[in-house]
Amino acid sequence: MSNAVIKLSANKIEEMKGYYAKDLSAKVPPGAVFSAKSNGCTITAYKSGKVLFQGGNSEVESSKWGEALAPKEKTESAVATGSLPSDFAQWSVIGSDEVGTGDFFGPMTVVSAYASKEHIPLLKELGVKDSKNLTDTQIIAIAKDLIHTIPYSLLILHNDKYNDMQEKGMTQGKMKALLHNKAILNLLDKLDGVKPQGILIDQFVEKNTYFKHLQGQKRIQKDDVYFSTKGEGVHISVAAASIIARYAFLKEMDKLSAKAGVELPKGAGSHVDVAAAKIIRRQGVETLKSITKWHFANSGKAMKLAKG
Ligand code: MN
Repeated sequence: MSNAVIKLSANKIEEMKGYYAKDLSAKVPPGAVFSAKSNGCTITAYKSGKVLFQGGNSEVESSKWGEALAPKEKTESAVATGSLPSDFAQWSVIGSDEVGTGDFFGPMTVVSAYASKEHIPLLKELGVKDSKNLTDTQIIAIAKDLIHTIPYSLLILHNDKYNDMQEKGMTQGKMKALLHNKAILNLLDKLDGVKPQGILIDQFVEKNTYFKHLQGQKRIQKDDVYFSTKGEGVHISVAAASIIARYAFLKEMDKLSAKAGVELPKGAGSHVDVAAAKIIRRQGVETLKSITKWHFANSGKAMKLAKG
Protein backbone atom coordinates (compact mmCIF):
# COMPACT_ATOMS: atom_id res chain seq x y z
CA MET A 1 0.00 0.00 0.00
CA SER A 2 1.37 3.40 -0.90
CA ASN A 3 1.29 6.18 1.63
CA ALA A 4 2.38 9.76 2.14
CA VAL A 5 2.97 11.89 5.22
CA ILE A 6 2.85 15.66 5.53
CA LYS A 7 3.25 17.92 8.55
CA LEU A 8 0.74 20.69 9.22
CA SER A 9 -0.14 23.24 11.89
CA ALA A 10 -3.03 22.60 14.29
CA ASN A 11 -5.05 25.28 12.47
CA LYS A 12 -4.50 23.65 9.11
CA ILE A 13 -5.57 20.30 10.55
CA GLU A 14 -8.81 21.88 11.82
CA GLU A 15 -9.34 23.27 8.31
CA MET A 16 -8.82 19.78 6.88
CA LYS A 17 -11.29 18.33 9.35
CA GLY A 18 -13.86 20.79 8.03
CA TYR A 19 -13.02 19.97 4.42
CA TYR A 20 -13.51 16.24 5.04
CA ALA A 21 -16.52 16.76 7.33
CA LYS A 22 -18.74 14.45 5.24
CA ASP A 23 -16.13 11.69 5.12
CA LEU A 24 -15.08 11.53 8.79
CA SER A 25 -14.83 8.09 10.37
CA ALA A 26 -16.56 7.53 13.68
CA LYS A 27 -13.53 5.67 14.96
CA VAL A 28 -10.48 7.82 15.68
CA PRO A 29 -7.19 5.99 16.35
CA PRO A 30 -5.30 6.79 19.57
CA GLY A 31 -3.34 10.04 19.27
CA ALA A 32 -5.31 11.20 16.24
CA VAL A 33 -7.41 14.35 15.72
CA PHE A 34 -9.56 12.81 13.02
CA SER A 35 -9.69 10.05 10.48
CA ALA A 36 -11.50 10.23 7.14
CA LYS A 37 -12.00 8.16 4.01
CA SER A 38 -12.08 10.21 0.83
CA ASN A 39 -11.12 9.93 -2.83
CA GLY A 40 -9.79 6.39 -2.45
CA CYS A 41 -7.60 6.99 0.53
CA THR A 42 -7.65 6.98 4.29
CA ILE A 43 -6.51 10.21 5.91
CA THR A 44 -5.45 10.28 9.53
CA ALA A 45 -4.31 13.50 11.22
CA TYR A 46 -2.34 13.18 14.44
CA LYS A 47 -1.93 15.55 17.37
CA SER A 48 1.79 15.66 16.54
CA GLY A 49 0.87 17.51 13.32
CA LYS A 50 1.69 14.60 11.05
CA VAL A 51 -1.01 13.62 8.59
CA LEU A 52 -0.91 10.15 7.07
CA PHE A 53 -2.50 9.36 3.69
CA GLN A 54 -2.90 5.67 2.90
CA GLY A 55 -4.16 4.09 -0.31
CA GLY A 56 -3.85 4.37 -4.10
CA ASN A 57 -4.62 8.08 -4.25
CA SER A 58 -2.48 9.13 -1.32
CA GLU A 59 0.01 11.19 -3.32
CA VAL A 60 -2.66 13.19 -5.16
CA GLU A 61 -4.73 13.78 -2.05
CA SER A 62 -1.80 14.76 0.17
CA SER A 63 -0.48 17.23 -2.43
CA LYS A 64 -3.66 19.29 -1.92
CA TRP A 65 -2.42 20.10 1.56
CA GLY A 66 1.34 20.16 1.53
CA GLU A 67 4.56 18.65 0.38
CA ALA A 68 5.19 15.06 1.41
CA LEU A 69 8.01 14.55 3.88
CA ALA A 70 10.93 12.58 2.47
CA PRO A 71 10.22 8.92 3.12
CA LYS A 72 12.33 7.58 5.93
CA GLU A 73 14.49 4.55 5.46
CA LYS A 74 12.27 1.52 5.88
CA THR A 75 12.77 -0.64 8.93
CA GLU A 76 14.13 -4.03 8.13
CA SER A 77 11.49 -6.67 7.70
CA ALA A 78 10.95 -8.82 10.70
CA VAL A 79 13.34 -11.54 11.57
CA ALA A 80 11.22 -14.64 11.94
CA THR A 81 12.24 -16.18 15.22
CA GLY A 82 11.31 -19.70 16.21
CA SER A 83 8.27 -19.23 18.41
CA LEU A 84 6.77 -16.22 16.62
CA PRO A 85 4.19 -16.39 13.83
CA SER A 86 5.68 -15.48 10.45
CA ASP A 87 3.47 -12.40 9.99
CA PHE A 88 4.05 -11.16 13.55
CA ALA A 89 5.58 -7.87 12.33
CA GLN A 90 2.13 -6.92 10.94
CA TRP A 91 0.21 -7.73 14.12
CA SER A 92 -1.18 -5.22 16.62
CA VAL A 93 1.36 -5.60 19.40
CA ILE A 94 2.41 -4.17 22.76
CA GLY A 95 6.21 -3.91 22.79
CA SER A 96 8.18 -3.56 26.01
CA ASP A 97 11.78 -2.52 26.58
CA GLU A 98 14.03 -0.99 29.23
CA VAL A 99 16.89 1.51 29.33
CA GLY A 100 19.55 2.44 31.87
CA THR A 101 20.40 -1.00 33.20
CA GLY A 102 24.08 -0.66 32.27
CA ASP A 103 24.49 2.96 33.34
CA PHE A 104 26.03 3.73 36.75
CA PHE A 105 24.30 7.11 36.85
CA GLY A 106 20.57 7.52 36.51
CA PRO A 107 17.42 5.45 36.80
CA MET A 108 16.12 2.43 34.97
CA THR A 109 13.23 3.27 32.66
CA VAL A 110 10.77 0.73 31.30
CA VAL A 111 8.22 1.45 28.59
CA SER A 112 5.43 -0.61 27.09
CA ALA A 113 4.02 0.88 23.89
CA TYR A 114 1.13 -0.21 21.71
CA ALA A 115 1.44 -0.27 17.93
CA SER A 116 -1.80 -1.30 16.29
CA LYS A 117 -1.44 -2.64 12.77
CA GLU A 118 -3.07 0.57 11.48
CA HIS A 119 -0.31 2.60 13.17
CA ILE A 120 2.63 0.66 11.76
CA PRO A 121 2.99 2.74 8.53
CA LEU A 122 2.91 6.01 10.48
CA LEU A 123 5.50 4.77 12.97
CA LYS A 124 7.79 3.92 10.07
CA GLU A 125 7.28 7.37 8.60
CA LEU A 126 8.06 8.95 11.96
CA GLY A 127 11.44 7.23 11.72
CA VAL A 128 10.92 4.63 14.43
CA LYS A 129 13.63 1.98 14.20
CA ASP A 130 16.28 0.31 16.33
CA SER A 131 17.44 3.08 18.68
CA LYS A 132 21.00 1.77 18.46
CA ASN A 133 21.05 3.30 14.96
CA LEU A 134 19.78 6.68 16.17
CA THR A 135 21.54 9.61 17.84
CA ASP A 136 20.15 11.04 21.08
CA THR A 137 18.99 14.10 19.14
CA GLN A 138 17.05 11.92 16.70
CA ILE A 139 15.62 9.86 19.57
CA ILE A 140 14.33 12.99 21.32
CA ALA A 141 12.68 14.29 18.12
CA ILE A 142 11.01 10.95 17.33
CA ALA A 143 9.94 10.40 20.94
CA LYS A 144 8.23 13.80 21.05
CA ASP A 145 6.07 12.71 18.09
CA LEU A 146 5.53 9.22 19.49
CA ILE A 147 4.21 10.22 22.88
CA HIS A 148 1.33 12.03 21.17
CA THR A 149 0.73 9.27 18.66
CA ILE A 150 0.54 5.93 20.44
CA PRO A 151 -0.61 4.74 23.86
CA TYR A 152 2.23 3.81 26.19
CA SER A 153 3.09 3.30 29.84
CA LEU A 154 6.35 4.57 31.34
CA LEU A 155 7.84 3.46 34.65
CA ILE A 156 10.92 5.08 36.16
CA LEU A 157 12.82 3.22 38.88
CA HIS A 158 14.75 6.01 40.61
CA ASN A 159 18.11 5.33 42.22
CA ASP A 160 16.99 5.41 45.87
CA LYS A 161 14.31 2.81 45.24
CA TYR A 162 16.64 0.78 43.01
CA ASN A 163 19.40 0.72 45.66
CA ASP A 164 16.88 -0.18 48.32
CA MET A 165 15.59 -3.16 46.36
CA GLN A 166 19.11 -4.22 45.46
CA GLU A 167 20.27 -4.08 49.09
CA LYS A 168 17.33 -6.29 50.05
CA GLY A 169 18.79 -8.89 47.71
CA MET A 170 16.79 -8.35 44.55
CA THR A 171 18.59 -8.95 41.28
CA GLN A 172 18.39 -6.50 38.42
CA GLY A 173 16.70 -9.22 36.38
CA LYS A 174 13.88 -9.45 38.90
CA MET A 175 13.48 -5.67 38.99
CA LYS A 176 13.17 -5.67 35.20
CA ALA A 177 10.59 -8.46 35.25
CA LEU A 178 8.47 -6.65 37.87
CA LEU A 179 8.59 -3.39 35.92
CA HIS A 180 7.80 -4.94 32.54
CA ASN A 181 4.83 -6.81 34.01
CA LYS A 182 3.55 -3.61 35.65
CA ALA A 183 4.07 -1.44 32.54
CA ILE A 184 2.22 -3.98 30.39
CA LEU A 185 -0.69 -4.18 32.85
CA ASN A 186 -0.87 -0.38 33.08
CA LEU A 187 -1.00 -0.12 29.32
CA LEU A 188 -3.65 -2.84 28.99
CA ASP A 189 -5.76 -0.88 31.51
CA LYS A 190 -5.21 2.28 29.48
CA LEU A 191 -6.28 0.51 26.27
CA ASP A 192 -9.61 -0.07 27.96
CA GLY A 193 -10.77 -3.20 26.19
CA VAL A 194 -8.74 -2.89 22.98
CA LYS A 195 -7.02 -6.24 22.85
CA PRO A 196 -3.57 -6.50 21.24
CA GLN A 197 -2.83 -9.65 19.27
CA GLY A 198 0.43 -10.12 21.12
CA ILE A 199 2.82 -8.70 23.69
CA LEU A 200 6.54 -8.75 22.89
CA ILE A 201 9.17 -8.25 25.56
CA ASP A 202 12.70 -7.54 24.40
CA GLN A 203 14.22 -10.63 25.93
CA PHE A 204 16.57 -10.25 28.90
CA VAL A 205 15.98 -13.65 30.54
CA GLU A 206 14.48 -16.97 29.58
CA LYS A 207 10.69 -17.05 29.65
CA ASN A 208 10.61 -19.45 32.63
CA THR A 209 12.91 -17.22 34.68
CA TYR A 210 10.79 -14.17 33.83
CA PHE A 211 7.66 -15.81 35.21
CA LYS A 212 9.54 -17.20 38.21
CA HIS A 213 10.51 -13.59 39.06
CA LEU A 214 6.83 -12.66 39.00
CA GLN A 215 5.67 -15.35 41.42
CA GLY A 216 3.62 -13.86 44.24
CA GLN A 217 2.54 -10.79 42.28
CA LYS A 218 -1.15 -9.94 42.46
CA ARG A 219 -1.55 -9.62 38.71
CA ILE A 220 0.64 -11.35 36.19
CA GLN A 221 0.17 -10.84 32.45
CA LYS A 222 0.76 -14.29 31.03
CA ASP A 223 -1.49 -14.57 27.99
CA ASP A 224 -0.07 -13.71 24.57
CA VAL A 225 3.37 -12.80 25.96
CA TYR A 226 6.26 -13.47 23.60
CA PHE A 227 9.97 -12.97 24.09
CA SER A 228 12.61 -12.22 21.52
CA THR A 229 16.15 -10.92 21.62
CA LYS A 230 16.69 -7.93 19.30
CA GLY A 231 12.96 -7.26 19.68
CA GLU A 232 13.32 -3.84 17.99
CA GLY A 233 13.79 -5.63 14.69
CA VAL A 234 10.97 -8.09 15.30
CA HIS A 235 8.14 -5.63 15.93
CA ILE A 236 8.13 -1.86 15.61
CA SER A 237 6.29 -1.54 18.95
CA VAL A 238 9.48 -2.61 20.74
CA ALA A 239 11.51 -0.03 18.81
CA ALA A 240 8.93 2.61 19.79
CA ALA A 241 9.04 1.51 23.45
CA SER A 242 12.82 1.63 23.40
CA ILE A 243 12.84 5.18 21.97
CA ILE A 244 10.40 6.48 24.59
CA ALA A 245 12.36 4.74 27.37
CA ARG A 246 15.61 6.28 26.15
CA TYR A 247 13.97 9.72 25.92
CA ALA A 248 12.72 9.41 29.51
CA PHE A 249 16.17 8.27 30.64
CA LEU A 250 17.84 11.27 28.95
CA LYS A 251 15.39 13.68 30.59
CA GLU A 252 16.11 12.16 34.01
CA MET A 253 19.85 12.39 33.36
CA ASP A 254 19.44 16.11 32.61
CA LYS A 255 17.66 16.60 35.94
CA LEU A 256 20.32 14.64 37.83
CA SER A 257 23.13 16.52 36.06
CA ALA A 258 21.61 19.77 37.28
CA LYS A 259 21.43 18.34 40.80
CA ALA A 260 25.07 17.17 40.68
CA GLY A 261 26.37 20.32 39.01
CA VAL A 262 28.19 18.30 36.34
CA GLU A 263 27.08 16.71 33.11
CA LEU A 264 26.72 13.07 34.11
CA PRO A 265 28.32 10.57 31.73
CA LYS A 266 26.46 7.48 30.52
CA GLY A 267 27.68 3.91 30.72
CA ALA A 268 30.01 2.47 33.34
CA GLY A 269 33.51 3.15 32.00
CA SER A 270 36.47 4.86 33.67
CA HIS A 271 35.19 8.33 32.67
CA VAL A 272 32.22 7.54 34.91
CA ASP A 273 34.56 6.87 37.87
CA VAL A 274 36.22 10.25 37.36
CA ALA A 275 32.91 12.14 37.32
CA ALA A 276 31.71 10.17 40.37
CA ALA A 277 34.89 10.99 42.33
CA LYS A 278 34.34 14.67 41.58
CA ILE A 279 30.83 14.47 43.04
CA ILE A 280 32.11 12.74 46.20
CA ARG A 281 34.66 15.52 46.75
CA ARG A 282 32.15 18.30 46.18
CA GLN A 283 28.94 16.91 47.65
CA GLY A 284 29.73 13.74 49.54
CA VAL A 285 29.11 10.04 49.18
CA GLU A 286 25.40 10.15 50.03
CA THR A 287 24.66 12.54 47.17
CA LEU A 288 26.54 10.29 44.77
CA LYS A 289 24.67 7.25 46.04
CA SER A 290 21.32 8.97 45.51
CA ILE A 291 21.96 9.34 41.77
CA THR A 292 23.68 6.02 40.98
CA LYS A 293 23.21 2.27 40.92
CA TRP A 294 25.39 1.83 43.95
CA HIS A 295 26.21 -1.89 43.61
CA PHE A 296 28.15 -1.23 40.38
CA ALA A 297 31.93 -1.53 40.75
CA ASN A 298 32.19 2.17 39.81
CA SER A 299 31.28 3.21 43.37
CA GLY A 300 34.36 1.56 44.89
CA LYS A 301 36.64 2.94 42.19
CA ALA A 302 35.24 6.44 42.66
CA MET A 303 35.81 6.27 46.45
CA LYS A 304 39.43 5.35 45.84
CA LEU A 305 39.90 8.16 43.31
CA ALA A 306 38.27 10.67 45.65
CA LYS A 307 40.70 9.81 48.48
CA GLY A 308 43.76 9.86 46.22
MN1 MN B 1 16.20 -4.30 25.51
